[in-house]
Amino acid sequence: MADENINSNEKMDINESEAPEIRDTDIVFDCPNCGGQLAIDYRGAGLETKCSFCGTQVLVPIPDGMQLADLDLDSGEILKQLFATRRNYQKAELKIQALKTRLVQLQETLSVMQDAIAEGLE
Ligand SMILES: [Zn+2]
Repeated sequence: MADENINSNEKMDINESEAPEIRDTDIVFDCPNCGGQLAIDYRGAGLETKCSFCGTQVLVPIPDGMQLADLDLDSGEILKQLFATRRNYQKAELKIQALKTRLVQLQETLSVMQDAIAEGLE
């Protein structure tokens, strides 16, 4: 009996000193960038949030078995999620454009290098 009490006390100490109190309904996950432990309200599932340790935008995982439809959201929050999703979509589009530009540049560089190698072998 006494041992069980000690164990439950140890579990209480998991909280980071600067992190806000973790509630049962929070989604707890590690930042993919710095590994810091983040606790986000369950309503943040599937949304982006800023890591409180390194400031990176991270995607809040959706817990197994959780349906987004299960979330009891009012219309205001649904709108917020919609806007957040749209912002993420636009950001992703910009990233794709930047990567496409980069790809073209790299292909040009590659072709120049291949020409140089071909000339060197002649
Ligand atoms: Zn981080």
